[in-house]
Amino acid sequence: MGFEVWIDLILFCVLFALFVYIFASVTITNLHKFYLLFHFSMMLWPFCQFAIKTTENPTFQLFYLKLAFVNSPVLTTGWLLFTILLTRQSKFLRRKVLLFLFVPAVLSALGVVINPGGWFVLPLNGGYIQRIYGPIFWFNVTILMIHFAVSLYIIYLTLVSDNAPRVKKQVMHMVRGILVVALFTLIDILLNVVMSRYLPVIPGLASVGVLLSAIIFVIAIHRDKVFDIVTIAHKDIIDTIDHGILVLDDNEIVVEINQSLLPQMNLRIGDRFNMEDILPQEPTPGNIECFLHAYRNRPMERSEVQLLHPIINRHLNIHAAPIMVRGLMVGRIITFQDITELQRLIDETNLHNKILQEHNEALLKIQGELSETNQKLNQMAITDSLTGCYNRHYLTQQLENEVMKNRQHQISFAILLLDIDFFKLVNDNYGHLVGDEVICNTVKVIKQTLRRTDILARYGGEEFIIYLPDTNESQAKILAERIKSSVESNQVIIENTAHSLSITISMGLLSINDFSAEHRLSPKSYLNDLFESVDKALYQAKHEGRNRIISVVR
Ligand code: GH3
Ligand code: MG
Ligand code: MG
Repeated sequence: MGFEVWIDLILFCVLFALFVYIFASVTITNLHKFYLLFHFSMMLWPFCQFAIKTTENPTFQLFYLKLAFVNSPVLTTGWLLFTILLTRQSKFLRRKVLLFLFVPAVLSALGVVINPGGWFVLPLNGGYIQRIYGPIFWFNVTILMIHFAVSLYIIYLTLVSDNAPRVKKQVMHMVRGILVVALFTLIDILLNVVMSRYLPVIPGLASVGVLLSAIIFVIAIHRDKVFDIVTIAHKDIIDTIDHGILVLDDNEIVVEINQSLLPQMNLRIGDRFNMEDILPQEPTPGNIECFLHAYRNRPMERSEVQLLHPIINRHLNIHAAPIMVRGLMVGRIITFQDITELQRLIDETNLHNKILQEHNEALLKIQGELSETNQKLNQMAITDSLTGCYNRHYLTQQLENEVMKNRQHQISFAILLLDIDFFKLVNDNYGHLVGDEVICNTVKVIKQTLRRTDILARYGGEEFIIYLPDTNESQAKILAERIKSSVESNQVIIENTAHSLSITISMGLLSINDFSAEHRLSPKSYLNDLFESVDKALYQAKHEGRNRIISVVR
């Protein structure tokens, strides 16, 4: 065996070393697996070329030859799939396109294996070292060329599209790899097949092409990180995330589906996706109708729906969003989030909220009742129960503030103290109940004659005190006269008797105009002082014959 025999073996060994190197040195992803398969079939080519030359037996020679040419469409098929995966040209993943690309390759491989009537290859000089190729060989070569051409076309599409620079960089490495293999294979065919009669056989040309292409690729994997770590990370994240993710192209073809979604959906990459298929069927609730309508008619907008899926019995949040590239919609991303747990928590919280609200309402009701009772109690605390006018305690409190204010601002005011004349007689003659009635009736009459700002309070027994704010002596006298005469003219009708009763009152009237002397007194003592004065005036009125007003001024 000459040196040329060993060339192919050496090339095989180098390719094998590269294979081992890649296997050992990089993180294996699906893309890597594909590449390794592809690399393996690349290795077979020089191996077969070498192996043919190691045996004299035509049967073995034919076996290695067949192996090499069965392998070659497998190689370019792998190359093509690899290109499609790397460039993400999803339209080439459709079943019809794949059938068109790969069925001829399978037929060609079958033709090579069967070699009917020597249509693939015929021996020369009793062996296959030198051979005559038939139409199946050319069919095989044509398929190789078509695969290369389609690969280049896909690459061209990717380079002119709006893909990310990272994808374009990867693709450029492929262009180099493909061109090298294609160039060396063409030269090999041209020199060693077409021109074989005129030129000596140059061994290992295609093998060198395969090797160079593999070397370009290995360099790319390492130096330029063709299988970019970001891509791997993205894929890993997408696959480990618990949201289901579906990426569709602009024809609703699935281009990506993550692990979370795989068990639930009977979908594969390249399938056509129909949103209706995954939504609950009749009767369709309104929100799903709305979502479907938006999904179909307004694809550029995000749409979202929450539903309880009747088959899997889970609450799902389905979200559809367009994938935009420079204002153009190139596809959609649909996410499926299982919100069953969240929904359960929301329902639970809602229930708690409702119970709390009910408790709250009950508490508010009690609070309302309490405040009403409180108000009543407060009112009762300042009101005289018999007459309904203020009690002495309230008036004293009010006056403590009022007199201070008046003293400070030098505002004149008056205090009236009145007492029913000979009231004991009423009690004695008509009884206490009638006495009560007379007191109430008198209060009513007095109230009618007072101004809105005047304060009437029961001072004790049948004695009443009236505070007249912002009132000078003459105004106070007029008011006192008016009260006296209205009480006098009032006829109290006594129940169960034919006649009525009229009473008179005596009054002490104290008008305060001068505040100069009072500054040193505390409000309480000042007030006591005032009460003492007005009490004296009343006493004087009684003493002077009753039914009169004694007015004093300070
Ligand atoms: P005077 O003209 O001197 O005032 O004679 P008077 O009989 O009215 O004497 P006085 O004011 O001292 O008497 C008050 C009486 O009023 C004593 C008490 O029995 C009666 N009296 C006090 N409070 C009430 C009450 O709430 N209801 C009734 N029916 N009588 C009361
Ligand atoms: Mg009296
Ligand atoms: Mg009295």
